[in-house]
Amino acid sequence: MSFNRELYNKITDAWTYILGDNLHYGYFSSDQLSLSEATNKLIDKLASLTVINATTTIIDVGCGVGEPAFYLHKQYGAKITGISISERGVELANRKAADKGYADSVKFLVADALDSGLACGIFDVAWIMESSHLMRGKDRLFTETHRVLKNKGTILLCDLVLKHELTLSDVLKKKVEFEVLERQFGKVKMETVIRYMSLLGHCGFTDMESIDISTEVVPTLFCWKHNAIENREVIIKHLGQSHYEEFLASCDILHNFFTTGILGYTMLKAVKP
Ligand code: SAH
Repeated sequence: MSFNRELYNKITDAWTYILGDNLHYGYFSSDQLSLSEATNKLIDKLASLTVINATTTIIDVGCGVGEPAFYLHKQYGAKITGISISERGVELANRKAADKGYADSVKFLVADALDSGLACGIFDVAWIMESSHLMRGKDRLFTETHRVLKNKGTILLCDLVLKHELTLSDVLKKKVEFEVLERQFGKVKMETVIRYMSLLGHCGFTDMESIDISTEVVPTLFCWKHNAIENREVIIKHLGQSHYEEFLASCDILHNFFTTGILGYTMLKAVKP
């Protein structure tokens, strides 16, 4: 965990020049959308899998710099508690919540999703947006999420997934590429959708639904690369030349992994009975 914590503390500022404030992929329902429209659209798509309104309490697990939480509050009126292991992310998010006048309804804490220290049964929705792939102990993530959700509460998750289980030989063949991705995006534990469903079921969730949106998210990689090239100077100031060059390479690797059927992207819903 400390590798990912240090990495996210290091990259958070630079990534806003590449990804924007939403640190997740965009949902490109049309190629006319800007990255910021598409990343907000992904929030709307995920939110549409349940009912979110002004009475809804949400835990945002792996909250980045708070942008999805601000959007959920603005669009749907929900009250949100965001958690992240990155102190820098939480600091920026709380500062923005205060600037926006949202501090009573949207709060952020440094906490580990695998053991958050929050009270039992207090949230209607657990929002897990592109953070679960960074957590090795997904059974612990889902057990902890189950604990903090109310009965009838819903998990809404979207993330990169494996299209099929990788054999040792698959991993060895792509070893160099996986190492680049790890240095850029963190230590990950990718799973297939079937494995996600089985883990959720094992941790007490029911009514699972999944929606494959791999095709819709792929254009994100062109936007990241474009933004990285446009903002080269400032990103190099934050991350250094070699990390910057490797980020560009990582966009090509991810694109190749999507188009060759190694990686996909899925939205998942499950309910605590
Ligand atoms: N959901 C946000 C950020 C996605 S980036 C958005 O869509 O904008 C992944 C986030 O997960 C980062 O904020 C990182 O700090 C956080 N994270 C990674 N591992 C975590 C863990 N074990 N517990 C809590 N947060 C974690």
